[in-house]
Amino acid sequence: MGNVEKSMENLKKCICMKCPSYSFACKMKSMPKNVMSMVKGDLENTEHLEGLFCAFEKSKCIDEEKGCICATCDVYKENELSNLYYCLETNGK
Ligand code: SF4
Ligand code: SF4
Repeated sequence: MGNVEKSMENLKKCICMKCPSYSFACKMKSMPKNVMSMVKGDLENTEHLEGLFCAFEKSKCIDEEKGCICATCDVYKENELSNLYYCLETNGK
């Protein structure tokens, strides 16, 4: 699997927010921090993010498999990824 870059470009392509596994409660919880990270724009030095899970570690609030839409994401295709549920598993880097 590829080593996905922690970049704003990739974050913008990430469709996790539209995924059924990304619960409403988790969105509410992670929104402020995610917005701050996006405003800062320095993802290289961001330790944890509730999104772009194929580049970062797994989620701290998504805890149930309700479908994964990673395979339809541009980051997935561009990096030739093959796993699913990066929010629940460590991404194997
Ligand atoms: S492959 Fe999945 S985790 Fe990675 S950017 Fe796309 S939707 Fe997000
Ligand atoms: S990694 Fe897959 S299952 Fe998890 S939120 Fe992103 S698209 Fe959904």
